[in-house]
Amino acid sequence: MSKINIDTFSYENSIDYVKTCVDAILIVDGAADRYKVLSKSGIFTDFIDDSGRYKDLIEKLWYHFNNSDETVAEGYHVFMPTSGKFQGKYSKRINISVDDITHIVQMTIYPIEDGEVYLFILDELDKSMFVDEELTTKKVAAIQNTYLFSMYIDLVKDTTSSISVTEISDEVMNQQLKYSQWRMMIVNMIDEKDQPTFLEKTDPEYLKKNFAPGRTSSFDCLMMNLEGKYIWVKLIFCRAETSNADDFRFVFMVQNIHENSLELLQTLKKYEQLASRDSLTGIFNHGRMETEIGNAITMKKAENKNISLMILDIDFFKHVNDKFGHTAGDVTLVKFTKVISDYIREHNAVLGRWGGEEFVIVWYDVCIEEALKYAEDIRCKVAKEDFGNIGQITCSIGVTDLHSLDTFDDAFNRMDRALYNAKSSGRNCVKSV
Ligand code: GH3
Ligand code: MG
Ligand code: MG
Repeated sequence: MSKINIDTFSYENSIDYVKTCVDAILIVDGAADRYKVLSKSGIFTDFIDDSGRYKDLIEKLWYHFNNSDETVAEGYHVFMPTSGKFQGKYSKRINISVDDITHIVQMTIYPIEDGEVYLFILDELDKSMFVDEELTTKKVAAIQNTYLFSMYIDLVKDTTSSISVTEISDEVMNQQLKYSQWRMMIVNMIDEKDQPTFLEKTDPEYLKKNFAPGRTSSFDCLMMNLEGKYIWVKLIFCRAETSNADDFRFVFMVQNIHENSLELLQTLKKYEQLASRDSLTGIFNHGRMETEIGNAITMKKAENKNISLMILDIDFFKHVNDKFGHTAGDVTLVKFTKVISDYIREHNAVLGRWGGEEFVIVWYDVCIEEALKYAEDIRCKVAKEDFGNIGQITCSIGVTDLHSLDTFDDAFNRMDRALYNAKSSGRNCVKSV
């Protein structure tokens, strides 16, 4: 039998009982940004200071995510229900982390004056009772978590509603936030490079002009997440289909596409690599070298640095093919590439295959005199190299340096003329123009 007799149990008894049961009671003055602890026990003994700033208290109790003590990035605080006033009684279950252990706490807030004075009652709950609930919430979160944020917008009234930040809470936040205000706050969470696009595409006039009823459109950008890290997100706007053409109501959502974007970028990089390489020798191909020369010309104009160009053409290569076969010719081209790659490794130079048995090198910070010396070194190296059963081969080299007024054709034609001179001077030599 119970020791308590309910017939004699009074209202005062119940108050005494609540005093001993509840883990913490605090009085808060939101307007003055202060709080004071009236009683505390259990996990709250060390977790909450006896008094302090209301803002710090809120941060401690509220702005966490993933059931951990990781705090929410500052920019997101505006989406928390606590940043506004509590109009009536408010109760919520929160997770707080003490020494890496998550505790489930029931928090009830009683506004006790018209202003911003509240009584906070905090009570730790028995965790085992919420295991199932927690698992379900996690499952729901896993489904939701590609959508980080959503809300409704009314452009005519300039309002937002039903704001949902899925990572923070599964509750909808009813903030009194104007769309125009929201836009200027959220822009700070967008990567600087993407901010102009964000401002353009979230502009009310832009949205009104470009979205027919029912139309959905999106753009990708880097946006700060709750942890304060930049991730790739898709910002999606969808205009509601209503019977009134003057309605401009939208659903806005932010989707986390970070993982997919990184994968896509990697794939693109791979294709970009493939597209810029010569399949036989693995060095840059013709297209990539055209870009390289173009960039070098731009750099010459901007910085007036010494830049030299070189074209190398294997002598009598047709003969190698004719005598030893095409495969042997291919092997020779690969070996030839290796000899030159090894030589330029120490230099700020870029080698590519221009086509057939012709190769181009762009030399940075190299004047014409140095380029001629390097060309002569390469010519000697090639001539001395043993190409297996093919024996020895030679090459002719045309050299030029970039002039600040050069067009691509100017530079290329000089280099080509130099090569022609080398060929007509008996091959296996270096000429410059
Ligand atoms: P020159 O000294 O005047 O440069 O004579 P050459 O024989 O080297 O020049 P030509 O332009 O007459 O011939 C180039 C040869 O290069 C013809 C072609 O069969 C060969 N060739 C071009 N691309 C390849 C390739 O990818 N593999 C092989 N094996 N041969 C190639
Ligand atoms: Mg040739
Ligand atoms: Mg040749």
